[in-house]
Amino acid sequence: MVAAKRPKCLLHSQRPRALPVQRVCPLVENLLLLIFKCVDYMLTRGAGKDAEGMRMRKQWLLALTALAALALLARPGERQAVPADGTAELAAETHYIALTFDDGPRHDTTARLLDGLRQRGASATFFLVGEQAQANPELVERMEAEGHQVGNHTWSHVRLEGASREAVAEEVARTEAFLSQLLGGNGYWLRPPYGLITAGTENQITVPMVKWSVDPRDWESRNTAKVVQAVLEAVRPNSIILLHDIYPTSVEAALQVVDTLQAQGYVFVTVEELLYLNGVRPQPGVMYRTGKG
Ligand SMILES: [Zn+2]
Repeated sequence: MVAAKRPKCLLHSQRPRALPVQRVCPLVENLLLLIFKCVDYMLTRGAGKDAEGMRMRKQWLLALTALAALALLARPGERQAVPADGTAELAAETHYIALTFDDGPRHDTTARLLDGLRQRGASATFFLVGEQAQANPELVERMEAEGHQVGNHTWSHVRLEGASREAVAEEVARTEAFLSQLLGGNGYWLRPPYGLITAGTENQITVPMVKWSVDPRDWESRNTAKVVQAVLEAVRPNSIILLHDIYPTSVEAALQVVDTLQAQGYVFVTVEELLYLNGVRPQPGVMYRTGKG
């Protein structure tokens, strides 16, 4: 359970390790983009408007500026790191991808998943049912502490499509309030249950919404091998993968997918990071299905 506290949205330890040589310069460019986006994010998200919040933000700005300077300084030397014989051309490309988990947390399966992700240096995004989060607050705190993105999946997993505006507001606001109280900050991104929300009611959602591009229907088969196969057949760079961390078979499948795709050069980031890495600036009430938008 002892987890190193680390920044929410950048520089996960796996990235530099996983990078093939010829991707160093693009990485630096991505790194700079991410740094600038994170500065913008820290300034605009509104987490903590008190003196402590401002102090933290200033510290973040200083740290990020220093990182940007380091990245710029590192560029000439890294260019020289590409071998003259061109063997770097044979290395795999680095691709970014996002795993997302809905309906948790569940005490046993989610803890096992967090252990496995930490061992592999992989980040993920968790869309939490408020009732489940309230029953397992230590797991929610662990997600945040270990660099994962925490999101909102309504309080009681209601279908927002067809629900009244009042019901939508209540279901979303209650989980938002719980997460805000537990973790601080606000504006936790929303995944509507079943990925559905009544057309025309998006304007009452004040955060970005996240759907998916790869759905192995893990809840249906509850079969690790089938889920792994379905993901690997459909996955591509910038995919957003839907899984449910309440099933042991899905947790095992997720870890196998991470092992397989990391070996192919994939790097697992949060949805928020995936969008920023693609230069997408997420907007409230808009549904995002891949890292490209
Ligand atoms: Zn769900």
